[in-house]
Amino acid sequence: MNLPETFSANLKDILGEEYEAFEKALQTEAPVSIRLNPLKKFNPSFSLNEPVPWTSTGYYLESRPVFTLDPAFHAGAYYVQEASSMILEHILKNHAPARQPLKVLDLCAAPGGKTTHLASLLSADDLLVANEVIKSRVGILKENLLKWGFPNVIIVNQDPETFADLEGFFDIVLVDAPCSGEGMFRKTPEAVKEWSEESVSACSARQKRILSAAAMLVAPDGLLIYSTCTYNSTENQQNAHWLTRTLDFETVETDVPAGWGIAGGNPGLQFFPHKVKGEGFYIAAFRNKSRDERYVKGKPNIPRLPRKQTEELARWIRPEIFGAYAYYLKNDGGIVALKQTLLNETGAVLRALHKRSSGLDLGHFKGNDFIPSHALALSGWVSEEILRIPLSEKEALLYLKKESTGPNGHPNGWALVTFQGLELGWIKVIGNRVNNYLPAEWRIRMKLEE
Ligand code: SAM
Repeated sequence: MNLPETFSANLKDILGEEYEAFEKALQTEAPVSIRLNPLKKFNPSFSLNEPVPWTSTGYYLESRPVFTLDPAFHAGAYYVQEASSMILEHILKNHAPARQPLKVLDLCAAPGGKTTHLASLLSADDLLVANEVIKSRVGILKENLLKWGFPNVIIVNQDPETFADLEGFFDIVLVDAPCSGEGMFRKTPEAVKEWSEESVSACSARQKRILSAAAMLVAPDGLLIYSTCTYNSTENQQNAHWLTRTLDFETVETDVPAGWGIAGGNPGLQFFPHKVKGEGFYIAAFRNKSRDERYVKGKPNIPRLPRKQTEELARWIRPEIFGAYAYYLKNDGGIVALKQTLLNETGAVLRALHKRSSGLDLGHFKGNDFIPSHALALSGWVSEEILRIPLSEKEALLYLKKESTGPNGHPNGWALVTFQGLELGWIKVIGNRVNNYLPAEWRIRMKLEE
């Protein structure tokens, strides 16, 4: 790998004698790691012998399986994520405000690595808002969140500057900022070609704009977390110091065991690939010292699902979950479930933001018939009364390719097809015909091995 000269000179300044080891690490293969979904039980086909030290759900794999050909991957049993960024868990465990419910915003969320991790760290009573400004990246964020099955999530597609009506609303705001990507040079060699001194300066200025919009949204004593996958101080330290100098934030430092190999980021933490088993990454946390809180509380301003349809819906959902949610109708007829205990908080978000989709999307009614959504299939909410049809691995892959629906001979109506107990999606049996309801855009396009 040919590193840009000014990049190497800067890293030599930062690392001194360690520079050679750093450069050597960039010539080795990037480790493969995954994070398990605590909401889904799963029998992996690979061994999980080597945990990532700073998270309770992350593991290194010995080699890279073809994830696309693992039905458990499509069921949301795990997320493939670079290990360094899983440190988010350690930051939250040390510094998350002790409040209930927690209102959390992931401001730069796609494709959803850190959002799914946040979802695993939150309780069923907390609210998560995931925003991605670039429209073409919202689809993958939705897909990953829907597979993950955390219900109290609102997905938004807005510029951070348009969140101003939620001043002081969030207990935790994560800015995993678009950056010059120096920490990704080993994993994504194209990042080397895109790197330039100008792009470092442009990224730094953009991060400052995002951080100043983010800072307004943090509740009194709430936490602002800033991360990048880069090393230079024009982005990391300059912006971290700017936050504490210019805005009313103080740094909160995070202790890490020396054996983890993580360097101090002055402030925060810095990961280098010659010291940790992971890619380059920077993260720092700040607490809000200001008292400003200005947002409009109130129940969601969308209509409730009519009573008769709510009664029909009850048949589909586990009773212990059904009563904890309220059911609303979107403009397009879709039904969303919003947690009863979070209606005021959800209402505030729905009033303040416009380009968003809220809560768990359950499906819609066609006349008196309920058509369940793929999100419902993967949510873990479906009542035990609804038929499950277990598939073999081969049958599961054919279902996920949308080439087959599984074995015949089942009673008429809707059924969930499963693989090793993990729900994969819906089929509907109508006489001799069986329809496969996997969303076409999610089907496996890869050729299956014979
Ligand atoms: N948090 C994600 C994860 O863990 O999977 C990765 C986020 S990536 C580092 C940064 C994201 O910021 C990208 O999805 C990018 O589209 C988005 N972005 C780009 N420009 C932005 C802006 N001006 N404001 C907010 N987000 C922006």
